[in-house]
Amino acid sequence: MGLLLDACGDAFEAFVPSPCLACGSGGGPLCARCRAARAEELVPRPFEASERASALPLGPSGEPWPVWAGGEYTGLRSELMLAFKGRGVTAVSDVLASHLGAAVAALDLGERDVLVRVPPSWRSCLTRGYDPVERLLAGAGGAGERGLVRRRAAWRPAARGGQKGLGARQRGERLARAFRPGPRAGAVLPRCGRVVVVDDVLTTGATLGAVMKVLLAAGAPAVAGAVALAARPTGRAGEGTLGEPLGKDG
Ligand SMILES: [Zn+2]
Repeated sequence: MGLLLDACGDAFEAFVPSPCLACGSGGGPLCARCRAARAEELVPRPFEASERASALPLGPSGEPWPVWAGGEYTGLRSELMLAFKGRGVTAVSDVLASHLGAAVAALDLGERDVLVRVPPSWRSCLTRGYDPVERLLAGAGGAGERGLVRRRAAWRPAARGGQKGLGARQRGERLARAFRPGPRAGAVLPRCGRVVVVDDVLTTGATLGAVMKVLLAAGAPAVAGAVALAARPTGRAGEGTLGEPLGKDG
């Protein structure tokens, strides 16, 4: 099924003429000239982003569990992410995967640390033809541990408008019911070091936080996060609302 979905994604892309995302010329999704001229913007600049994400659970120190991002969700990087997630432009995934790879590298994983990707929704896979997070993780040379956390099949984001317009806390409450421990959680999690939750974009941290909470409750001794890009808070001060990346459905 995964292979079939991937093949559909590639076929889709091959038949859609794609202008360069930066200059609009025909050599898209990112022409050779722009790739060279704007190379500086495409270099990962990892930073610890947990203080921006108000919905993350707190660790034993009273601080949020650490989440590393490979770069800012701004400028050309955010355009690439929007094209990748929203319009099926998978040819830019190498740039984004390098950002995720830098975030994972910054966590300096030990032998007992494992990566777990945020489980995709079926709707997301079927709409896009691929799972963006899995693509990025594979591109970064990593593999997510399977069977540790699942998305509840019956759960739906919202009848209308998805998560848009909800505050961080409301999103957190809604998302708390979206995930459950997977079949291998009880046996594997207690023996892990850090369980690193992987996602594409960090906004409020509601999704990442919900998965972290499930893992902690199921026996993970410690959690962390790694995302390709992290958004800057754009809402009113203290409210924790953030600009919503296109296609962020959970
Ligand atoms: Zn260009």
